[in-house]
Amino acid sequence: MKIRFLLGSVALAAMLMLSACGQDSATDQMPAEQNAATEMDATAPEATEAPLQVVDVTPDAEAEGDAMSAESVEMTPAAEGEAAAAPAAEGSSDAALAATAQLQNVAGEPVGTATFTEMQDGTVMISAQITGLESDIVGPHGIHIHQTGACTPDFDAAGGHFNPTQMQHGLDNPAGPHMGDLPNIQIDEAGNGAYEATTDLFTLSEGDRSLFDDDGAAIVIHAEADDQVTDPSGNSGARIACGVIVQSAP
Ligand code: ZN
Repeated sequence: MKIRFLLGSVALAAMLMLSACGQDSATDQMPAEQNAATEMDATAPEATEAPLQVVDVTPDAEAEGDAMSAESVEMTPAAEGEAAAAPAAEGSSDAALAATAQLQNVAGEPVGTATFTEMQDGTVMISAQITGLESDIVGPHGIHIHQTGACTPDFDAAGGHFNPTQMQHGLDNPAGPHMGDLPNIQIDEAGNGAYEATTDLFTLSEGDRSLFDDDGAAIVIHAEADDQVTDPSGNSGARIACGVIVQSAP
């Protein structure tokens, strides 16, 4: 066992060295050697993905010429496949987009902040810090993106759930979901909640599912839990907090 382990370690070290060498030489002249090194690395148990992405992208960057330099190296494997077809489009989507919403309760008092960040793969990360919402509502609560960027004169101004694809409500609904549907937020005994979710249902950047359409969007917290199947709002009850989503610096 000990000998096998040692041999394995030596082999792994050799592969890693080969990989490192392959990265240098392949950049200049030998794409075939580079592919070989990449495949060997993929079988090594300790191999990590990160350096391979850089190695894979290098030939593309060369083929495209000097104009594609720093941005090409940053690309993820998903973006890489489209690089040859549409390098300009990929480049423009590299800019991170962000947005915030200041939530208020029905009395107009501030109850926390939600932030939205669109990642390079197009998914949007949502995080919210809710404070002092209400003291007797411990448990899960529906939280959704609503279709209109308004919380006044009352929270009905936010309209229904953001639903540009005309689906039914609920992340577990076979005929759903709305693009604005999200997992429940947990509120504690003090009326506080820390929330984080990632979605690929809507975007901040321009497009058919962008929150920043003509009338914007709002984020709303409801009085009850969202059952994630019942149309149109998961039986999540009254709207107890609302915030208009506005674009911000990333
Ligand atoms: Zn919904």
